Amino acid sequence: DLPTVAIVGRPNVGKSTLFNRLVGRKLALVDDRPGVTRDRREGEGFIGDVAFRVIDTAGLEEADADSLLGRMRAQTEAAILEADAVLFVIDARAGVLPSDRPFAELVRRSGCPVILIANKAEGGAGMAGAYDAFSLGLGDPIPFSAEHGEGLGSLQDALREVL
Ligand code: GDP
Ligand code: MG
Repeated sequence: DLPTVAIVGRPNVGKSTLFNRLVGRKLALVDDRPGVTRDRREGEGFIGDVAFRVIDTAGLEEADADSLLGRMRAQTEAAILEADAVLFVIDARAGVLPSDRPFAELVRRSGCPVILIANKAEGGAGMAGAYDAFSLGLGDPIPFSAEHGEGLGSLQDALREVL
């Protein structure tokens, strides 16, 4: 069986863009089981010769922010439980926001190996946010751009180490 990688982080950091980048056209299944796994997507991800099952969390869009965040947390916890490694994504341009921290806390408490991705860093943007990311206590951030496909080599190396 393939190892499982969960993509975790607050809304709008680029998790789904990263998911699509990793899965390519291969498989983008919608899991329509009810409850916390609703709207979760999973597929087979690749970087070069490294293959894994990848879970995208929290593709939820609802008006009620409180219930949305509660469901996102539950869904995130469920994905982390299944994961052999977590890709924790922040928006390097925005820096670390208060809303990143509860998700970081879930990852840290789980003890699951984590790779910190400082996304939206194409063309060297977001360096300040990447430095900021050290404060999360989740290790060294990888400057990354899910949209432009930058940082894939570093992510491949990091995945090789933990999977
Ligand atoms: P999610 O809510 O974490 O799944 O985030 P999405 O993948 O839906 O992306 C949120 C927004 O960030 C979208 O407008 C994306 O186009 C944008 N985005 C995602 N990745 C990048 C990136 O690497 N660079 C830039 N500049 N924008 C990105
Ligand atoms: Mg998403």
